[in-house]
Amino acid sequence: MKLASRLEKIKPSPTMVVDAKAKHLISQGVDITLLGLGEPDFGSAQVACDAGVEAIRTGLTKYTPPSGTDELKTAIVEKFKQENGLDYIKQEIIVSCGAKHTLYNISQVLFEEGDEVIVPAPYWVSYPDQILLAGAQPVFIETQEDDGFLMTPENLKKAITPRTKGIILNSPSNPTGAIYTRKHYEALAELLRSAPFWIISDEIYEKFLYDGAGHTSIAALDPALKEKTIVVNGVSKAYSMTGWRIGYAAGPKEIIQAMGMVQSQSTSNPSSISQKAAAAALKHGHPFVEGMVKEFEERRNLMVKGLNGIKGIHCPTPPGSFYVFPNVKGALGKKYAQWTIHSSLDLASFLLEEGGVATIPGEAFGAPGYLRISYASPREALIKGLQKIETALLKLT
Ligand code: PMP
Ligand code: GLU
Repeated sequence: MKLASRLEKIKPSPTMVVDAKAKHLISQGVDITLLGLGEPDFGSAQVACDAGVEAIRTGLTKYTPPSGTDELKTAIVEKFKQENGLDYIKQEIIVSCGAKHTLYNISQVLFEEGDEVIVPAPYWVSYPDQILLAGAQPVFIETQEDDGFLMTPENLKKAITPRTKGIILNSPSNPTGAIYTRKHYEALAELLRSAPFWIISDEIYEKFLYDGAGHTSIAALDPALKEKTIVVNGVSKAYSMTGWRIGYAAGPKEIIQAMGMVQSQSTSNPSSISQKAAAAALKHGHPFVEGMVKEFEERRNLMVKGLNGIKGIHCPTPPGSFYVFPNVKGALGKKYAQWTIHSSLDLASFLLEEGGVATIPGEAFGAPGYLRISYASPREALIKGLQKIETALLKLT
C-alpha cells in the first residue's frame, strides 16, 4: 500500500533518532553518555507540578477551548507585557501542544505550494521539514562561525525573492547559541519591515542567556515589525516541562484564529492539566529559571574549556541556549579500525558506537563540520562525556 506522497519530502527528527538509538544501546547494557537531546535534566518547576496535581484533584480534566484556557492566555499576555515589552490581547494568543506543534500550525496556515521560506542555517531540525510538509520550499542562508553564526543584511537580501512568504528566526539559537541583539535586528529591520512576508520568531531559549546577555524580541522593535511577526515560545525549556507539551504563539488575530481552526480539527485543546501547570510556571516560576540558568552557565564554561582542550576540536563560546557547537573539522579525514571519518556525521556515529557518547552531527542542522552537544545534562555526565570524546579522538590517526 502506498502512503501519501508528501511523506517522501520529510525524514524523522534527527535529534529524536539519535536519542532513540542511544537509549536502545543503553537498554542493551552499553555505557552511553547522553549529550544529544536538548532536554533539561532538572525536574519540572515545582509550582507547575503542584498546579498540575491540583488540576487533577479539582476535576480540571475536561476539554478546554481548542486554542487554550482563558487563565493561561491571560498569563501569556502578562508575560509578553512584563518580559518582552509586547502588548497583545487574548485573541492574539494561541496555546498548542508544544512549540513544535505551534510552529507546525504556523506553517500549515501560512505556507503552500510555490512559497519560499527563509531559514538561516545552522537551523533547528524541524523547520525545513515542517515547511516541506506545508508544500513550500525552505531557502537556507548559510551563516559563518566567524560572524558568530549571525545573518548579515547582505545574506538576507540575497535570499529574498518574489516568492518569499516567511522567514524563521531563532534567538537564542538551537544549535549555535547565537543571539541577535537589538543592534543586530536593527541592521536587518529595514529589509524585513519593507518586505511582504511574515516573520516567525522562535524565542523558546529566551531565558538561557549568559555573561549578562539580554533577550530582544524582534516584534518589540517597532509596531510595523510587530504586525508581521508571530512570536513563538513555550514552557518546555525554561521550566523544564518538555513532557507537559505546552507551547504558544502571539501574532495577528487572523493568523491566530486560523491556527485555532486547525487545532479544533486536529488536536482539540492541549491537555487541561498541562495548561494549569503552565499558567503557574509563567506566573510563579521565575526563581526556578534563575537557578537553572546559573547552573547552565557553569556547565557551558566547563564544556567550552573541556572541548577546547581536545585536539581536533575548536569550540566558540555560545552566549545563549544550552548547546555548544564545536567545529570538528580538525578530526575529519582520520581513521581508526574500520572507521574513516569523512564527515561530522561519521564522527557522531564513531563517538556513539566507539566512544559511548551521544552527540548530534552538524548535518542535522545544515552545518556539516560541527557537532551539537547539549549541556542540559548533569555535570558528572558532562565530565564523563568530555573524557569519552577525548579518548575516542585520540584513537583517530
Ligand atoms: N524550537 C526550538 C528551537 C527547539 O529547540 C525546540 C525543542 N524541541 C522547540 C522549538 C520545540 O519545543 P517544544 O515542542 O518542546 O515546546
Ligand atoms: N529541541 C530539542 C532538541 O533540539 C528536542 C528534540 C526535538 O524536539 O526534536 O534536541
